[in-house]
Amino acid sequence: MHEMGIAEQLVKIAMDAIPADIKDPRVKILNLRIGKLASVVEHSLTFCFEIITKDTPLENVQLLIESVPVKIHCNSCHQEWEVDTPMFKCPDCEEGEVAMISGREIEITSMELVDE
Ligand SMILES: [Zn+2]
Repeated sequence: MHEMGIAEQLVKIAMDAIPADIKDPRVKILNLRIGKLASVVEHSLTFCFEIITKDTPLENVQLLIESVPVKIHCNSCHQEWEVDTPMFKCPDCEEGEVAMISGREIEITSMELVDE
């Protein structure tokens, strides 16, 4: 289950981002952006978070996940498309090399702490 490794990394990033001057911090909400091709199963990720955040400031954190569409960019005609699966050829000029510009990201956009 690769969600465990992802959860561990995200927890580490979130913990590092908590301001050091807050006493007994509690994180309420973690806003995430996850690409459709990152193959993250949302409920698995939530489950992993529940396990590894026990007794940490992130215990019972709520994950708000924004799903990021897959976008490709053609290096020849410079058009961009949203696609459902990775494409390796430009759908328009059919010659251009395409680059995937989004769809694999796993990142924290913001987090909200509990106000004491
Ligand atoms: Zn093209």
